[in-house]
Amino acid sequence: MEYFLNDLQKEVKRMARTIAEEKILPVRAALDEKEEFPRDIMKNLADTDLLGAFVPEEYGGLGGGCLEMCLVTEELSRVCAGVAVSYAVNALGSFLLIDYGSEQQKQKYLPDIARGRKLTAFAVTEESAGSDVGAIKTTATRKNGGYLINGNKQFITNGGEADLYTIIALTDKGRGIRSASALLVEKDTPGFSFGREEKKLGIRTSATRELVFEDCFVPEENLIGREGAGLAMTVNLFNRSRPGIGAQAVGLAQGAMEAAVDYAKKRVQFGQPVIAFQAVGHMLASMATDIEAARALVYATARSIDGGVKHFGMESAMSKVFASDIAMKVTIDAIQIFGGVGYMRDYPVEKMMRDAKITQIYEGTNQVLRNVISLELRKRSF
Ligand SMILES: Cc1cc2nc3c(=O)[nH]c(=O)nc-3n(C[C@H](O)[C@H](O)[C@H](O)COP(=O)(O)OP(=O)(O)OC[C@H]3O[C@@H](n4cnc5c(N)ncnc54)[C@H](O)[C@@H]3O)c2cc1C
Repeated sequence: MEYFLNDLQKEVKRMARTIAEEKILPVRAALDEKEEFPRDIMKNLADTDLLGAFVPEEYGGLGGGCLEMCLVTEELSRVCAGVAVSYAVNALGSFLLIDYGSEQQKQKYLPDIARGRKLTAFAVTEESAGSDVGAIKTTATRKNGGYLINGNKQFITNGGEADLYTIIALTDKGRGIRSASALLVEKDTPGFSFGREEKKLGIRTSATRELVFEDCFVPEENLIGREGAGLAMTVNLFNRSRPGIGAQAVGLAQGAMEAAVDYAKKRVQFGQPVIAFQAVGHMLASMATDIEAARALVYATARSIDGGVKHFGMESAMSKVFASDIAMKVTIDAIQIFGGVGYMRDYPVEKMMRDAKITQIYEGTNQVLRNVISLELRKRSF
């Protein structure tokens, strides 16, 4: 399908594919096995400026937006979704700064983010607050010209590896979630440490860690936007970032389909390549069709966001729900086409299936996002 990408979009896609094939492919099984964060690959991404693909040019980035972030994520995910999410979450951790940060905050952090000198993360989830973001308990209490942060954040991607964290905390416990505010916390701030490192089903090369805040002081200038705007900012942030998870799912599914086609052409049973059996050929045909439909939805949503469309929450949720469900189906079918060897770690499709599952869970589970879509349908007049 021709998506009429501009020169920058073609270039970031090409560079991401080169890194994926030359640097990630040879080590992806080892990274998965060792559950090791891909530091060298993040350095490769920094050296080619891809970590700044979504950062405005005036702060040293390539000046792209949501679509450029999606294109890079998709290409990385075609080879390894664990590396892709480490990349995509760097955008998640930067978007509030880009959208709501003061000029001083942008000047201080964005050039380092664009150059890959600072990796970022975003933290809202807590043990008792997953889908129910309104139940967060972490507090940021005003004190001596700044905030004292106390509480724990759970399941934070890039946790421990990132240098800069955007966190959501309550500035007034009594007002609860209406006082939620976004704050920047640098890695080595006293009172900020890292807890449990999660052992995961998939995306094992990515870091998922608990953040612990014990009387962690940050100055007032670390507040992004205004106090009390944290929940609305989080909703807007996820609306903007969810196509990135859709892109992760599309890339993953594409990688699984390519592997399945390749194998089905080579594997001979009953005297012919298994691709010649209609049952196998039709599975591949459905994969190709579903993937293209998911890609079209992800790109169209990303283009709407970059083009300045005001309300895109429903489309953003649709792109993530649709693409992630497709990725799950495609990766399961890819194992089926490989037969017994598909179940073995010698081939990449079992990893792809393990990696695909998370795309239906994070940045809003698909159940919660279907709620978002159906609520919007109730509000809209046709
Ligand atoms: C690997 C990984 C990385 C993550 N990275 C980050 C990160 O970087 N930053 C961050 O802040 N968070 C992160 N998360 C957290 C993630 O976004 C949450 O896990 C997710 O939103 C779901 O919350 P939960 O796990 O508490 O599930 P729960 O909310 O407890 O949901 C349990 C089940 O109930 C269903 N459910 C809940 N509410 C409803 C409802 N209203 N209607 C219908 N069904 C419902 C859910 O769909 C699910 O099936 C990460 C999680 C994982 C696993």
